Amino acid sequence: MVAYFRQIYEVLFTIYVGMRLTLKYAYTKRITVQYPDVKPTIQQRFRGIHYYEIERCSACGLCAKACPVDCIYIEKSGVRKMDKATGRAVGGAMTRYAIDYSKCMFCGLCTEACPTECIKMGNVHDFSGYDRKSMIVEFTDLARQGHRTVQPYWMQNRKMADWVTQLKKEWQDRAEPAREHMKQALVQTEVSVKKSADDSPKTEG
Ligand code: SF4
Ligand code: SF4
Repeated sequence: MVAYFRQIYEVLFTIYVGMRLTLKYAYTKRITVQYPDVKPTIQQRFRGIHYYEIERCSACGLCAKACPVDCIYIEKSGVRKMDKATGRAVGGAMTRYAIDYSKCMFCGLCTEACPTECIKMGNVHDFSGYDRKSMIVEFTDLARQGHRTVQPYWMQNRKMADWVTQLKKEWQDRAEPAREHMKQALVQTEVSVKKSADDSPKTEG
């Protein structure tokens, strides 16, 4: 008998909790952001389309190994070594660094595995495509054009809100100092690596 009334109590209490939440949100003021005319608020730790610094990528493949869905593709023309003095990788050319966003689940494990922190989760949240193939982002092609991340189709439109123009400029300015180094990462360079001041002699070679 006690169990019977307890069950009734639990059912009524569950309905009460659910309805309380429903009613709370039913009468709160609705907020509609007129995106893309109005800039959306992206949280600082949002994990969007990656931001890739090709000149600091040694093509070690650790990000691809860490990826649980195998959606990172890396190709190089030869061994790439980190130059500690400049913080850039030299040697073989980066011939391909691509991520298939039809598979990526934005877990961020690739960024944690990267020893040079050259792959980061970016803040592009609205990348789209017309087929699965267009969801593969070729970051080496982007680097060739001086970009570190993808620009959604609608951002390539000439008529854009002010905040989009500003955002695109910020992206450009951020990549500008490294543009030459980005291009160099796409071609084979000297393998001899400059040593940093604090390197001991035995680490040379
Ligand atoms: S975020 Fe996760 S799923 Fe996407 S490429 Fe990185 S490791 Fe793979
Ligand atoms: S992005 Fe980082 S982990 Fe991936 S290949 Fe380049 S250096 Fe290695």
